[in-house]
Amino acid sequence: MSDCIFCKIVAGEIPCRKVYEDGELLAFHDINPVAPVHFMIIPKAHIASLADTGEEHATLLGRMLVLAPLLAREQGLADGFRTIINTGRGGGQEVFHLHIHIIGGGGPRPM
Ligand code: 5GP
Ligand code: ZN
Repeated sequence: MSDCIFCKIVAGEIPCRKVYEDGELLAFHDINPVAPVHFMIIPKAHIASLADTGEEHATLLGRMLVLAPLLAREQGLADGFRTIINTGRGGGQEVFHLHIHIIGGGGPRPM
């Protein structure tokens, strides 16, 4: 997807503040954080939204969720955090490359 911002971040064409990377996942800080800690976990492969996933993505989606508490702890969110996946225009999604927001450090309901 040549016009996808997150694909460009995966390709290194747009810089990011990286939190984590492996063969299929990337995590980086949100450019416009809504709380003291706000990063996103994305698949390196372009998947437009959660509504575009199927059974074949079950392992990938599981890995994204399992990674969330590990990275949250590393980022200082020992107390807890929020996970948000905005899906589709009706769900407030702005960047159409699947991502999980991990948000915390700003009180019980930072967003
Ligand atoms: P959405 O509303 O699609 O769930 O969230 C997209 C998020 O991506 C927003 O929180 C926005 O701040 C973030 N974002 C948009 N463009 C960039 C960028 O170029 N770099 C980073 N690090 N975050 C971005
Ligand atoms: Zn993409």
